[in-house]
Amino acid sequence: MKHVLIVEDERSIALRLQQSLRAEGFGATIVSDGERARDCALSGAYDLLVLDIGLPTMDGFTVLSQLREASSRMPIIVLTARSGVADTVAGLEGGADDYVGKPFRMQELLARIRLRFRDGENAHLLRCGELALDLRTRQLHVDGRIVDLTTREFALAEIFMRNPGTVLTREQLIAAAWSDDVQPASNVIDVYVRYLRRKTGAQWISTVRGKGYRLDDSTSRLPTDSRG
Ligand code: CA
Repeated sequence: MKHVLIVEDERSIALRLQQSLRAEGFGATIVSDGERARDCALSGAYDLLVLDIGLPTMDGFTVLSQLREASSRMPIIVLTARSGVADTVAGLEGGADDYVGKPFRMQELLARIRLRFRDGENAHLLRCGELALDLRTRQLHVDGRIVDLTTREFALAEIFMRNPGTVLTREQLIAAAWSDDVQPASNVIDVYVRYLRRKTGAQWISTVRGKGYRLDDSTSRLPTDSRG
């Protein structure tokens, strides 16, 4: 059973959320101050944190930053004031996975919690547009098609998928796919990018002349890009 840690000092909100989560089959524990929230979150007993910002002893932002500093990768949904755009931005930049403005509709918050859990089940998939790289099977899903990759193709696909929209130099790509003691010829990357393009379709990887290659996410894909 998934267990949600509710960090909220407004008792009525916390109880309502706890009741709703339990009705959905989740475990739900309430904590009402920041320091206890941090300690409970680090205990490893919970699968997701719903975190209010205004809290006694330590505010939600501090809890968030201390958890991320402690390398906690627990999904965190921040509750912010509806008008608090600055809070929302700060929360997301501080490492929150999502936010819900207060006052919130219970159904919306529950939907987001379910979504986080579903994403967690797909944590072995790196996604970029219609591409998904399965880190367990080392296969690439392209528009629903499943493509097998060689070891080096997989290593290159992984660094591209972890850095969509970013130009990667040949040196960076070599470092990702070849061990330090091997000095591959400089054009080896061009050869392997060609292999990858053959498998994914040419439109995904752009040549950035004189710099390297870039995996295009949907926002950076432009019709004028050169495709070497
Ligand atoms: Ca509060």
